[in-house]
Amino acid sequence: MDHSMCGSGASWWARTDRIFDVEGMHVLAASVVDEQLVLDVETDQVLGGCPSCGVVAVGHGRRVHRLHDVPCFGRPVLVRWRKRLWRCVESTCEVTTFSEQHPYAARRAKLAARAVTWATDALSHDDTTVSALARHLGVDWHTAWTAIRVEATGRTSRPGRTAGVRTLGVDERIWRPSMKRRERAVTIMVDLTRDDQGRLQARLLDAVTGRSGTAYATWLKEQGLEFTVEVEHAALDPFRGYANAIRDELPDAIAVLDAFHVVKLGSQALDEVRRRVQQQTLHRRGHRDDPLYRIRRTLMTGVEHLTDKQTARLNRHLEAGDPGWEVTIAWRCYQELRGIYHASSPATGRGLAVKVIDAFPTCPIPEIARLGRTLRAWRDQVLAYFATAGVSNGGTEAINGIIDKTRRLAHGFRNFANYRLRILLAADGTPPYRDRPTHA
Ligand SMILES: [Zn+2]
Repeated sequence: MDHSMCGSGASWWARTDRIFDVEGMHVLAASVVDEQLVLDVETDQVLGGCPSCGVVAVGHGRRVHRLHDVPCFGRPVLVRWRKRLWRCVESTCEVTTFSEQHPYAARRAKLAARAVTWATDALSHDDTTVSALARHLGVDWHTAWTAIRVEATGRTSRPGRTAGVRTLGVDERIWRPSMKRRERAVTIMVDLTRDDQGRLQARLLDAVTGRSGTAYATWLKEQGLEFTVEVEHAALDPFRGYANAIRDELPDAIAVLDAFHVVKLGSQALDEVRRRVQQQTLHRRGHRDDPLYRIRRTLMTGVEHLTDKQTARLNRHLEAGDPGWEVTIAWRCYQELRGIYHASSPATGRGLAVKVIDAFPTCPIPEIARLGRTLRAWRDQVLAYFATAGVSNGGTEAINGIIDKTRRLAHGFRNFANYRLRILLAADGTPPYRDRPTHA
């Protein structure tokens, strides 16, 4: 006798059902085969109405739907769902036979719905890879990614995702270093809006190919007026194309050069001075035993973070490797530049910034003078930072860190669409498992 057909449930295991935890599904048997946990399950749908005419159908046997669920007890889980088949008896109906449906898994799905959710969450928050998840699920890479891609596309294109952006950042990344210069750059858009408490949880809004004002302007146009009118501040890196896009597409927004990019310009200039002096004094590139090479990282550290020991080391190596004091002076300039963002108040910071912008262009060190000219060209955008209560310090940097980590974990990407989805998932800004109950 088929217990399940009459709904008695005599062969269902209540305790196992509790562990399996799918409403309306029951475990008939469990075994371990080839290191996989194999579960035979069925639903308790004992009546089937025809999806077309609604007439009660008659049983037409079973078909086993094999699929994988979230791993359990250290093993991949293979589920054999004994699906009921039904036959419509209504003679005028075009439906002949059909199989039962359950939200547990879509028709012909190779993964249970919750397994797809689990894997997509893991890619968002757990620094993992598609191949690792596929291995845990007991499926191949393509099976895992095909299912995750659908879920990820839904999540990253959900309505309202880009609503309420008041501070918008733009930056460039290299997504595929092996490609030609033109093709490897991407423009990323970052939400840098602070919440009511002034906290910043930066999130990646989108990524498009190319590094150009056109790429950014096109994206802004696509978002429409309802998006662009909300933007009050537009942070950018010092790239004229982006500035033009902001001028044209976000005319009411204040363009701001954020602290991260300004400090980066300074560290680049300092590094150039160090390498030039190294070359001039040693007539070759830096070597690991050279005094300036050895302090190349310490030079970049903010003076407020240096320990006494590090300061002594810095002095010792500068004395040995920088006879003309050029690196030393460049280092002071760099620290001065950093200092404008560590001032006690925005007004003080602005005052220091004005001094830096006025002084650097006449610096006898050519790299610093050039930095000064760049800052002078971006004067308004540099100073706007201090009128906007620290628009974006750190946000863009944090997102860049997540993007780089995602690319490293995946050993690079060959397909831009996959790259875009993966970085959007990882840098979505949702704190991991925020809405989930915590277990004691
Ligand atoms: Zn029918």
